[in-house]
Amino acid sequence: MLTQMWINGEFVNSSSQQRFDVINPATEEVIATVPRGNAADAEKAVAAANAAFKCWRKLGSLDVKDMLREVAHKLRAKSEDFATLMTMEGGKPLIENRDEVEWVASCFEYYSEIGRDQKGRVVAPVFEHQLSYISKEPYGTVAAIVPWNYPLLLLGWKVAPALAAGNTVVIKPSEYTPLSTLALAQIFDHLPKGVVSIVTGFGKECGEPLVTSKGTDLIAFTGSVDTGRHIAVLAAQQLKKTHLELGGNDPFIVCDDVDVDITVAAGAWAAFLNAGQVCTSAERFYVLEPIAKKFIEGMVETSKKLRLGNPMGPDVDMGPLVREVQRQKVEAKVARAKQQGAKILSGGKRPPQFSKGYFYEPTVITEVTPEMELMRSETFGPVAPIQVVKDINEAIELANNSEYGLGASIFTNDLEKALTAAENIKAGTFWINDPLTDNDAAPFGGMRASGHGRELGIEGLDEFREPKHVLIDYKIERKKYWFPYNWSGPRKT
Ligand code: NAD
Repeated sequence: MLTQMWINGEFVNSSSQQRFDVINPATEEVIATVPRGNAADAEKAVAAANAAFKCWRKLGSLDVKDMLREVAHKLRAKSEDFATLMTMEGGKPLIENRDEVEWVASCFEYYSEIGRDQKGRVVAPVFEHQLSYISKEPYGTVAAIVPWNYPLLLLGWKVAPALAAGNTVVIKPSEYTPLSTLALAQIFDHLPKGVVSIVTGFGKECGEPLVTSKGTDLIAFTGSVDTGRHIAVLAAQQLKKTHLELGGNDPFIVCDDVDVDITVAAGAWAAFLNAGQVCTSAERFYVLEPIAKKFIEGMVETSKKLRLGNPMGPDVDMGPLVREVQRQKVEAKVARAKQQGAKILSGGKRPPQFSKGYFYEPTVITEVTPEMELMRSETFGPVAPIQVVKDINEAIELANNSEYGLGASIFTNDLEKALTAAENIKAGTFWINDPLTDNDAAPFGGMRASGHGRELGIEGLDEFREPKHVLIDYKIERKKYWFPYNWSGPRKT
């Protein structure tokens, strides 16, 4: 297990000599300690990235392609090790983490190819014997700051396009899940020194110095709305570009023409996957009245059948929440909803069979109203509140009644309903009959308070490049529109 930071190709401890504990959320045991990085450590990594940028940005596309493919290859070769680490530190079932590693590898492969395509474009020249081309240039040093719920995937979505675009990167993982990220040192060790560095520590002490450093050119952040807003304000003081992937409160609409069993299976997965700790979890269900009773019964039955347990074990559908503080937030929110009249049909408590671990039962709640905090803000726990609606128009209106705009889902066979909802619901991703499936080649990101910028696809590459217009006149001659003025204009040939 690698438990040192990785700066400029070297394993180092923090200059503070301090470390902090990494805890297994299923057992509450300390599984390792890692360096408690500070501003000096962050600055060291930034300096290495600045130095490495000078060569990396000029490297030939075939070399970059080979190196990114090598990342994918090495990740796959160590897939089980990574999945195990992620399960131990994050609490997601092993099977989900195996899947995550594969998606990261696939993301690096994708950008290894499109990174050398579409470098820019050529436009029609304004005058004779001229050429105008637009070259998309890297920003420089990117700070990639990520949360714990998909520690490698969210990192891969930033690091792969950032490197493919010619940037260098300093990574700051969540303080909850640093181990799988530190293990990436052995995956990136074929890259030139300093192209990628990894620092560990807390947000204020180690993340914020990356945001405010004069040496970082772009802050690519995934995390909560509050932290995102804070980072945006700090970066704005230096007019530094930010790319923010923030929280969500996704709606899930169920129409009355669907197969209830299949829709319940999809809804339960969308709400309880990773114990509801997914930015695009289904957090609000709007179900058309004729089908509501059957759908609610199905969700209750399914939630009771989910197998909770140590995520390392087989036959486990759901692990614990990441920390006690997260569990307490969920408990408090459910309690407030109950006080306001919501009805808990299943779950709503800690499972009695576990003496250790931050487990919380999958919870189905009805009799909710749009005013409740439960329906208005992100819960980030295994909670499925269901509101019955009279028709698709009401469902669309309620779906939009939110400050967020990350994702949204609908289940229906009715093309008119599906596409009306897709057109009118404000969300960066809209899923029809297959919630939460992303595509490396299609952009992912949020509208409104869910952030700005996009990951994945060509859009995700463009986040890490800025266009430069190069105008060439290949015949040097005195222009009539230069001084002294003796022409009548306008400037046309
Ligand atoms: P968080 O905002 O608390 O922390 C995210 C990262 O930011 C961590 O690495 C943390 O150390 C760092 N950080 C904290 N304060 C900082 C500061 N002042 N300066 C710089 N860095 C700082 O979020 P979290 O609890 O780790 O993650 C959960 C949140 O992430 C949820 O809101 C979830 O919806 C969101 N999320 C969004 C997406 C997306 O793609 N939109 C994906 C996953 C998670």
